[in-house]
Order: sequence, then C-alpha cells, then structure tokens
Amino acid sequence: MTYEVLARKWRPGNFQDLVGQEHVVRALVNALDSDRIHHAFLFTGTRGVGKTTIARILSKALNCEQGVSSKPCGTCSACTEIDEGRFLDLIEVDAASRTKVDDTRELLDNVQYAPSRGRYKVYLIDEVHMLSGHSFNALLKTLEEPPPHVKFLLATTDPQKLPVTVLSRCLQFSLKRLSREQISGQLKTILESEKIKSDAGSIDAIARAADGSMRDGLSLLDQAISFGAGELLVNDVTDMLGTIDPQGVDNMLDALQDQNADTLMAAVASLVQIGGDYSQIIDALLLRLHEIALAQTDKKLVSDSAGNMDKLLKFADEMPAADVQLYYQIALHGKRDLPLAPDPRTGLEMMALRLLTFQPVAESKPVTNQSVPKTEPAAVSNKQPASTSTSQQPAPAVTASAVTNTASEASPAAAIAPETSKNITQNITMDSPWTDIVNALQISPLVKQLCSNAAMQKDSTFDVSLVLDQSHGQLLNKDRELELKKAMESLWGKTIKLKIELGKPSNDTPAATKKKELDSKQHAAETAINKDENIQALQESFGATIKPGSVRSRV
Ligand SMILES: [Zn+2]
Repeated sequence: MTYEVLARKWRPGNFQDLVGQEHVVRALVNALDSDRIHHAFLFTGTRGVGKTTIARILSKALNCEQGVSSKPCGTCSACTEIDEGRFLDLIEVDAASRTKVDDTRELLDNVQYAPSRGRYKVYLIDEVHMLSGHSFNALLKTLEEPPPHVKFLLATTDPQKLPVTVLSRCLQFSLKRLSREQISGQLKTILESEKIKSDAGSIDAIARAADGSMRDGLSLLDQAISFGAGELLVNDVTDMLGTIDPQGVDNMLDALQDQNADTLMAAVASLVQIGGDYSQIIDALLLRLHEIALAQTDKKLVSDSAGNMDKLLKFADEMPAADVQLYYQIALHGKRDLPLAPDPRTGLEMMALRLLTFQPVAESKPVTNQSVPKTEPAAVSNKQPASTSTSQQPAPAVTASAVTNTASEASPAAAIAPETSKNITQNITMDSPWTDIVNALQISPLVKQLCSNAAMQKDSTFDVSLVLDQSHGQLLNKDRELELKKAMESLWGKTIKLKIELGKPSNDTPAATKKKELDSKQHAAETAINKDENIQALQESFGATIKPGSVRSRV
C-alpha cells in the first residue's frame, strides 16, 4: 500500500471544504453564481495558505461539464481531470522555474487558440512575480486584450514585486494566514478520520509550528505520524520539532507562584535536558505569559487551541496581572541578554532567578481589587426586586470579607504563607515537631507569626505549652490565644488545654530555624544577584526592588 501525503490527500476539492479565506470564497462564489467573472485574478499571501488550491477549484467551477457554478460536480471528466492534473485546458506554470522570456512567449502564443475541450482556457501562473521583465510585457499584452475564452489565475507570495500595470488589470484577493484554531481544527478532523490517536498538546504544538500555513501543518503532521509510530504524543512532537515541552514552562510558572527556588531550577534543568534551545525556552515562556495576560483581559481572547486550557485559566485567575507583565518584561530582557551571558545556561538561570526575585508588591493590590467594584452591591440591587432585599443581604457581606481576605493575603505577614498553605494534616499529632504542627494549623497570618516565634515545651498539666519569644510579646492577646486553641482542637478533634507564656524559648522557634537557613543560603545567592548588571537595569526600568529573603541558592 502506498502512502499518500496528507497535504495531497486532504486538498479541498470544493469551496465548502476549504478551511479559512471566507472573504475570498464569498466573493468568488458570488461572481460565479451571477456569471460575472473577471478575466484575471491575482491571489496573494504567504506560502501554504491556499492560493493554488483556490485557483484549481476556480478552474473546475469554470469548466465543469454541469455548467459554470460555485459548486463544481467533482465527478465529470473535466472535474476529475483537473483534480488529477491532466486537464488540457488548465495550463499550470511555475514562474519560479520558467523565467526565460521565450518560455512565456511560447506559452502566450497559444492564448489565441480556442480551448481544446473545456469552456475556458485557464492559465494558472504560480509565483508570477518571478517572471522576467520581458515576460511581464508579454503577459501584459495579453492581459490588455484577453480573448473571451481565456482566464488568468495568478498567484504570488510577493505582490510588491509585480508591476502596477499587471496589478491594475487583475482582481486581487489577499489570502490570510490561517489561525492556530483553523489549523488545529483541520488537524483534528484529519486525525479522527484517519483513526490516529493524539493528545491535545501535540496538535497544538504542530498548529503553532505551522505558523499560519495549512500546507506546513499537514507536512508536519505527516512527519509526526511517522515519527510517533502511528500515535501523536506531545513529548514526541516537541522532540521532533525541537520545540519546548509546554508542561515544563507551566512547571516554571508553578514554582514562581510557590516562590520555590528549588522547583524552579529543577524545571529549568528539565527543560534544558529535554534538549531545548535556550532562547526557545524563553520564547515558550513569553508565549505562555502572553496567553495568561490575554486570558486576564478577556477569556474570549484566548484561542481554543492554547495548550492546557485548564491550567492557563488557573494561572490567569491566580497570578496578579502586574506579576505577569513584569515576568514578561524580565523574560524579554533575559532573551535579549542571552548572547552576552558567559554561557547560555547561566543566562537562562539568571533570568529564572530574576523572575523569582522581583515582585511588583505595590501594584499587586489595586489589580487584585480592580475586579471587585464590578460586583458591588449597587449593581446587584438594581436588578433585584425590593422583596428579595433580605435574601440578598449576605451578598455584600461576602464580597466585603473576600476583599479583606485578599488584602490580608497580600500583606507582608503572608510572606511565610506559601510553605504553610500546603497542609499535610495527616499524621500530625501533639508529639510532632512544632514546625509541622504550625504548618498544619488553619490560622490567620498574625497567629501564624505568633506560632512561628514560639517553641513547644514539656508541661504535664497542659496538652500544649508554648514559650513565645518575648521580643514578639506584642503578638499575644486573648483573641489570638483562643483562635489558636480552636485551630488545634479542630486539627486533633478534641478539646485541649493550651498555655502560652513569654520568655526565651529553649528550642529553636520555626522562625529562628528558617532565618538560620536563609542567612547562609541567601548570602551566596544575593551576592550573585547583586553583581548582575541587569538587576540595576530592571530597577531603573521598573522601579523594582529585591525582596529580602526571596533570593535562595539552589544548593
Ligand atoms: Zn464537474
């Protein structure tokens, strides 16, 4: 069994099957159905967007034995011969390989003769801008006084190289690059029909690489099918294309959200290991940030074919818009400076560390609050009849507390929150290390501060006895003590007796332990960061500051 390449097998045979170029098709269909057909058409556009495909369908429409119409039958001998490329009255010329004036003259000498069996003699001249000046003159002469039985279908990727005298005699159609959705939609249709399994990421990767050209998309699909031994998986496809694993980029963004230097550097290392080009890795990050920013502006702006849509929307919801913008700028600078780095890997890693280091603290709050006024009670109450006013009462309260929570989460007290927010409540007993207990407790930021600066001590008359570092004595009050007691009772499911006294903890408090760790690691990391000239550039460009304690060494 011979394998027919997809681009040929799936070449649309009629206007209805054509993907995209609706504006061109509509004009041609109207012209054909009203029998007002110009004698010369010029189709422009980049490669693989359907210029010659449309021209071939048009020549079928003109020569179908069933009559001129926008729906050639596809089964008569004229239609099938055109499909098979052996119709005598369709003269196809690739001007790129036929630039000698004699060739064109010879070609145009025959124009005066009537078609041998069709209704029209159709000249399809591809890459018409490649014709020499003399050939143009020969063509022009024919275009000026075309015999009624001749139609010219010209195609070019470079209309600017055509003389105005030719342009002015043609009906010009400019074909658009195909969108990623149009290409991935067609790829999906083909894969389903060919019964080839695929994941969404692989189709997206191919559609992206096709860069607006359906023909390129189908050729890449051909390659991917043979590369993947009949099944399309995103890892295989990114391998084949030499592009970046989109999951790796999402891992980087996850690590940034968690402010976790270790997982960030691990994500970078894994992207590098898969064989990505350093600049391409940054490009992939830039593209993802662009998608996130679009989704934050309006979810409708994000194309269906964006990779891992659930994850994208999650990032869009959770990342402050100011962070996304700053990440984009930092990545852009990182890409620009890549050739200047001692080696590309260093440049990439420094960019990643910069992403971790800079946070637009001041800007993040207004952005978080920005969407809230839209749901203000006023807007709600306008739509509600007066009788339901009691039932809507709670709504403003919920809104208000949501704002409060958001604001407090963004406060400096939340700086220790990321690690503690991931609760591992299983297996936490009263005998567990105090740090683990603190991490498992559902408590407000200030109570968390209190706990972080306290240590546990043995006391036979109390279930839990804490010594709070007296330098943080101002954190202790009755309300916070009660909140902590309730949180512990909720964690362990029983009433407990709690004592908190001020003093000098005999063991390290979680805060002290953390500070020791940070101090040693941070010294090395911050020294490196501060040496970087780009840091100064960023500080000047964005008014950014290095967040104390946010720089962490990998080791
Ligand atoms: Zn036909």
